Amino acid sequence: GGSFDDECDYLFKAVLIGDSAVGKSNLLSRFARDEFYLDSKPTIGVEFAYRNIKVGDKLIKAQIWDTAGQERFRAITSSYYRGALGALLVYDITRKGTFENLKKWLYELREFGNPDMVVVLVGNKSDLAQSREVSLEEGQSLAKLEGLFFLETSARENLNVEEAFLHMITKIHEVAS
Ligand code: GDP
Ligand code: MG
Repeated sequence: GGSFDDECDYLFKAVLIGDSAVGKSNLLSRFARDEFYLDSKPTIGVEFAYRNIKVGDKLIKAQIWDTAGQERFRAITSSYYRGALGALLVYDITRKGTFENLKKWLYELREFGNPDMVVVLVGNKSDLAQSREVSLEEGQSLAKLEGLFFLETSARENLNVEEAFLHMITKIHEVAS
């Protein structure tokens, strides 16, 4: 038999978006390699990781793009979104500002993203409940308003990370096939 690449049925691109330091890179490293970094460096430019997933009898290769949520990388925005079928839109439950900025991210998604894009809203750092500034209900009601699937996650404790990515990938598969 050949390598997985020869045998995979679909290749999906998905992107991570949200403010700096909400935990995008750690969600990705947790999902792709089961790794977490207490002291991670800000992402420079664009990075990506792959994970192979079986959905029903199909083999899917998910290519997940990660970038720094910063204005100085504006120039890459349209190429970042190009061809992406899914997005994980991430905020930090301990920083209200990252939740308020979701409006800006949703606007950008509508401007640059594919209209059929599967968007999952993620409130990360659920392990830091004592510092919470955004309630579970606030996350849920925004998700309802915008028609998004929603989960709170902890990249640190590995809570719901797999669920968030797998929901996105499974939905993309439904939309795309
Ligand atoms: P990014 O800028 O959105 O890519 O954020 P990073 O993944 O670099 O994470 C920023 C900081 O938050 C790092 O110090 C991480 O260790 C920390 N972090 C990320 N996810 C979690 C989490 O679920 N819980 C806690 N307590 N810290 C986290
Ligand atoms: Mg990062």
